[in-house]
Amino acid sequence: MDTTIANARDDLFGRIAAKRDEVASLARDLIRIPTVNPPGDAYAACADFIGERLRRRGFDVAFVRGEGTPGDSDAHPRTNVVARIEGRSGGECVHFNSHIDVVEAGQGWTVDPFGGEIRDGRVWGRGACDMKGGLAASIVAVEAILESGIPWTGALEISGTVDEESGGFGGVAHLARQGLFSPPRVHHVIIPEPLDPDRVCLGHRGVWWAEIETKGRIAHGSMPFLGVSAIRHMGAFLHLVEERVYPELAKRRTRMPVVPEGARSSTLNFNSLHGGQAEIAGDGLPSPNVADSCRLILDRRFLIEEDLDGVKAEILGLLEELAAGRPDFRYAVRDLMVVHPVMTDPGAPVVRALDREIERVFGRAPRHVASPGTYDQKHIARIGNLHDCVAYGPGILELAHQPDEWVGIDDMVASAKVMAAAALTLTGTWPDGGPRF
Ligand SMILES: [Zn+2]
Repeated sequence: MDTTIANARDDLFGRIAAKRDEVASLARDLIRIPTVNPPGDAYAACADFIGERLRRRGFDVAFVRGEGTPGDSDAHPRTNVVARIEGRSGGECVHFNSHIDVVEAGQGWTVDPFGGEIRDGRVWGRGACDMKGGLAASIVAVEAILESGIPWTGALEISGTVDEESGGFGGVAHLARQGLFSPPRVHHVIIPEPLDPDRVCLGHRGVWWAEIETKGRIAHGSMPFLGVSAIRHMGAFLHLVEERVYPELAKRRTRMPVVPEGARSSTLNFNSLHGGQAEIAGDGLPSPNVADSCRLILDRRFLIEEDLDGVKAEILGLLEELAAGRPDFRYAVRDLMVVHPVMTDPGAPVVRALDREIERVFGRAPRHVASPGTYDQKHIARIGNLHDCVAYGPGILELAHQPDEWVGIDDMVASAKVMAAAALTLTGTWPDGGPRF
């Protein structure tokens, strides 16, 4: 066995273990910058904090604003940071991409959501697991490589990007359009989203968000026969969906390893339903009219085995059927968001490199999963056309967006070891990952 690589790996892992307090305090410092989205607070401050730290360690640092993207304004600039450092020539580039935005704190916290408290082996706060803990782990992983003296090849990049929670248009999508997530600049991408530190996330399901409006005709509520009720129209539509669509969706199963188990089928959620005129101001009574409009927002998550046209046709067909058979049935459909499913090949280099190191660090076989919701991998695959990309990071998936969110410090340390060793494999520094133990 190649003892040089084995010794270098031991040394690297030892260095990362010694950075336990450092990774915790870095996560704490990131949590203390309240990058809440919407509206996109403190993005520039957070990007500066990351950029300054990495510049001091020899990275080339660029700030890229998603000008003109949704939400971008002088008050809330969509500021991304991309940092790159070159090793010896001849290798490939591994990029660690983390989103810096967090969702609002919401109710029910017993700790300060932006305090970054360190207690009981955990760092607490909004974004701790999703995904400032992952960002901190990736930064410490790369810094440990630089400090180790290992003569590494290729290039390493770290980015902090905005707006993942709102679609990633001003963040990864914007950077991908500029070629920042494509060869020859970048070859492998690891997104440290919280998917548990012994699992590799290969991709995610697709999304069709749409608004369906049924239209009626207003009339006095005491004489509904003189109008057309948009709410009754919507009721007829919902009845058909219940009878025909839901049983079909439950039958469809994907070969993708989506977790949790229930998300391995197609799913449909009604995010909201609003019909009729607003209440009469002040007295809380509804307006005494026949509803002339009813709006439904639907959230259809589709499988890699389904195609978007078929997904839409399943719903539009019911509306057409109602339009043909139900008097005065009129409707409109508006797409709000479309995301196609993505899945990286389980045999892809980034998956194999992470698998090997997970096995070393955790002493057990890694699990492959796919995410029920989407994340920025879609932009890297679709716009950047780079398919050697997965999500891998510390943090427990179920804690994301919850009150009292936390990330385990041991998990950050363990995942940083996996990330660092996998990066050295993927850059070509350790061809084929070195010997198996
Ligand atoms: Zn996230």
